[in-house]
Amino acid sequence: MTSADLPALDAHAHIAPDVTRDQITALGDAVVFAMTRSLHEASQVKNRRDHSLIWGLGIHPAVATARAAWDPERFKDLLRSFALVGEIGLDRRGGDWARQCSIFQEILTIVRSEPVLVSIHSSGATTEVVQYLHDAKTGGAILHWFNGDDTDVKRAIDADAYFSVNAAMSEDQIRRLPRDRVLCETDFPARKVRSRRPADTGRIELLLSQAWGTSPQEVRAATWWNLRTLSERSGAIERLPEPVADTLLYL
Ligand SMILES: [Zn+2]
Repeated sequence: MTSADLPALDAHAHIAPDVTRDQITALGDAVVFAMTRSLHEASQVKNRRDHSLIWGLGIHPAVATARAAWDPERFKDLLRSFALVGEIGLDRRGGDWARQCSIFQEILTIVRSEPVLVSIHSSGATTEVVQYLHDAKTGGAILHWFNGDDTDVKRAIDADAYFSVNAAMSEDQIRRLPRDRVLCETDFPARKVRSRRPADTGRIELLLSQAWGTSPQEVRAATWWNLRTLSERSGAIERLPEPVADTLLYL
């Protein structure tokens, strides 16, 4: 496969657990990281084997019902079926901050030695999220829609984190993130990003190509390479759907 043939790679989107085969077919050969927001949603998808979707095991920090249903034993049990954890994290305006922090810390500790990627929300809480990552020494982290300042970015990189970026982020923020740590995302169905469907990464690839002074094709190739590095370092490559692992290995 040449870099011109690489499929779109969307490292953070929301897809309904009851998505149909036809809806997935409509995504073509794109690869999408499909977040869940609660253990209940995750248990609905745990037996799905979709070649192009990488399902996440998530407890969204701003969803009160998901926090209320947090159960570490159930999480550990589900974790065996997932190559990706997400979406998890902290949200400044999400309510019950103390419980958000304790769940986030507990999840980071559980996943620390697991071969998984971890997609992390940090709205209004970038400094705290990075501090928790440092303390837990969790690998495989991808900070989604990360709006931290230069200090936060530097500390995130010290903690070996990657970043998934979208077209609603400012140009300044996108330029703050090093090219060898960036993946694209749509956060579909977030309206602000204006992606018409999951895997609609054209706009963010264009913005990155302008920031990096390169072509959108090279941006896509760079993000696939970044995913390969991250998947090998975290060990998640063993658990990824086979067609995705093959794409990574034959880059
Ligand atoms: Zn999200």
